[in-house]
Amino acid sequence: MTIEKDRVVSIDYELKDEGGALIDRSEGEPLVYLHGNENIIPGLERQLEGKKAGDKLDCVIAPADGYGERDDELVFAVSPSDFAEPGKIEVGMQFQAHQEDGVRIVTVVGVDKDEIKVDANHPLAGKSLHFSVTVKDVRAASEDELKHGHVHGDDHGCGGCGCDGECDDDGCGCGDDDDGCSDGGCGCGCK
Ligand code: ZN
Repeated sequence: MTIEKDRVVSIDYELKDEGGALIDRSEGEPLVYLHGNENIIPGLERQLEGKKAGDKLDCVIAPADGYGERDDELVFAVSPSDFAEPGKIEVGMQFQAHQEDGVRIVTVVGVDKDEIKVDANHPLAGKSLHFSVTVKDVRAASEDELKHGHVHGDDHGCGGCGCDGECDDDGCGCGDDDDGCSDGGCGCGCK
């Protein structure tokens, strides 16, 4: 079975930056996603189109096809009173910020007495991504998976939001009945 829209794809991958430093890898637990549903970055999805189990590929994804270019306007100051425990905020901490277009991870980049500076750019924004990928499996998606726009794993009923055992009775803890839930930013509050 080849990779095309609405197929469930399992891949092992290694992600390195331009200098060859390891950013992320699947470590024997393949990444499973629903192809053609914006579950993964568009550049990698395009590279995988038409591939099948056993295929290997190495590719470089430009920022525009990855996590986007950096946007300086996404670095902004917020009031310490916006945090539950402002005294404990340190540079490098990350928080989930709920916005109209979903959940964003913001990183604290500066702490002052009367303002905390955060960066809402994706940590990988502006970076060229060097992927080594092995396609492990390709299967048809279930009706529920197509409806939700993400994969439901075999082990705990929900691979869409990646939560463990917190899933509600529709088999998905994402709390989202339409297809608005993708790539981990599902809003269920779990990681
Ligand atoms: Zn779901």
